[in-house]
Amino acid sequence: MKTIENTLYFDDCNTVELAQKYGTPLLLISEEKLKDKAREIRDDFLNLYDNVRAVYASKAFLNTSMCKIVQREGLGLDVVSGGELYIAKSAGFPMEKIVFHGNNKSKSELTSAVLLGVGRIVVDNLSELNLLNHICEDLQNHTQILFRITPEVSAITHAYIATANRDSKFGLTLESVQDAYQIASASKWISSMGLHFHVGSQLQETTAHFNAFLTALELIDNLAASGFTVHELNTGGGFGVQYTEDDKEMSLKSFVEPMMTHLQNWSNATGIKRPQIIIEPGRWFVASAGLTLYEIGSVKTIPNVRTYISVDGGIPDNIRPALYTAQYRAVIANKMDKTPSETVTIAGKCCESGDILIKDICLPKSERGDLLAVFATGAYTESMSSNYNYLTRPAVALLHQGKASLIRKRETFEDMISRDLLPEHLL
Ligand code: PLP
Repeated sequence: MKTIENTLYFDDCNTVELAQKYGTPLLLISEEKLKDKAREIRDDFLNLYDNVRAVYASKAFLNTSMCKIVQREGLGLDVVSGGELYIAKSAGFPMEKIVFHGNNKSKSELTSAVLLGVGRIVVDNLSELNLLNHICEDLQNHTQILFRITPEVSAITHAYIATANRDSKFGLTLESVQDAYQIASASKWISSMGLHFHVGSQLQETTAHFNAFLTALELIDNLAASGFTVHELNTGGGFGVQYTEDDKEMSLKSFVEPMMTHLQNWSNATGIKRPQIIIEPGRWFVASAGLTLYEIGSVKTIPNVRTYISVDGGIPDNIRPALYTAQYRAVIANKMDKTPSETVTIAGKCCESGDILIKDICLPKSERGDLLAVFATGAYTESMSSNYNYLTRPAVALLHQGKASLIRKRETFEDMISRDLLPEHLL
C-alpha cells in the first residue's frame, strides 16, 4: 500500500484527486495488477506445460476495455449469457477463444453462439444438448462442445458459490455423461471435445478442486473404455483471493502443479493421451486489481452499541456483503497518516438494514467528507451492480502508468429512465 503524506496512492495514482475528478462511488482498476496476474498465468501455467489454455471468467468484471486487456494478455473469455457474448463480440474479441457457459442458455443465445462460431459451447444438461442439436441441424452448422459435469465434491466456501455438490443446478450428473456422449456422437452437427467442471468460488484450499479433477480423470477412463476420447478438460476457476487478513491470496501454482503432475502419472499408467487442460479464473484475476472509493456522509454513534459511518454507495455497487456476508478491508484514503483508533461499522445508503459494507473495522476518527477506500473490489461488484433505490451505477476508471482513464461513465438519472415508456392513457 503506497501512501504519500496523508494520501493513499493506488497504482501510482492519487486516490483523493481521482475522487475529486470523477466523483464517488468510483471503482478503480489497476492495469498493472491485471498484468501481474497474467504474468503469473504465463509463468506458472501457460509457459510451463504443453497443451494448456487459460480463459478469463468474465462474469467477475466485464466491459469493452477489459475484453481488450484479456485479449492482449493472450487469454480466452468465458461468457455466460447473450449479453456477455455481445460485449465480447462488439469489442472484437476472437469468437474462437470464447467458452460459452450457463445452465439455461436460451434458444436465441445458443443460435447466436453457433452462428458467431464461438470456440466451445459448454453443454450443461441433456435438455440443452437436445436443443443445441436441433439448432445446429436447422442452421446446418457445426459446433464443438464440452460437457459440464457435477463432480460431487463439497467446496469449503459460501453455499451460494459452491457449485459442485450432487444437488446442484449446474452440470450433468456423473451417471448421465456416458449417455450425453452417446447422444452427441449420433449427431453429425456436434463434436464432443471434452469435459468441464467448476467446483465453486473463493476457494481457500485446493482439496475440493483436486478431488473434482480426480473424478474427471476417472470419468475419462470410463469414457475411453466405451470408445470416447476426451480431448480437453476445463477445470474451471474458483481460486481464492485475500479480502481480509483471514484470507489467503491463493497462488495459481497451488492449484495447477499437483494437477499437472498427477496428470502425467495418470497418462503413463492408463496409456490414455492426456487431454488439454484449461483453467478459468475470474475473481482471482481481477479482485485485487479493484479499489472502490466512497465519500463518507452521516456518522451516527449509539452509545455502548456502535458507530455507523455511512457512505454514498452500498448494495447497488457491491452486493457481496449483503448477499454472502463477504468481508473487506478499508482505509481512510485522505487520513493515511492517522492511526486507526475507533471501531466502526460502514453502512451503505440503501433502505435495508442489511446494507452494511463492513462490520466492525478499526479506522482513524472519520467525518463527513472523508474518503473511504475499500480494497479488492474488482470482482463481482460492478458486474453484480443494480439500480436499487435508483442509485446510479458508479464510474469505473482504469489506472495505467500513473494515469487514470474512465472506462465506464457514471450512470445518470436520464440513463435510468431511458427505458421507461408511458401507455397512452397516462400521457
Ligand atoms: N467458470 C465457471 C463455469 C463459473 O461458473 C465461474 C464462476 O461462477 C468461474 C469459472 C469463475 O469463478 P471464479 O471467479 O471464482 O474464479
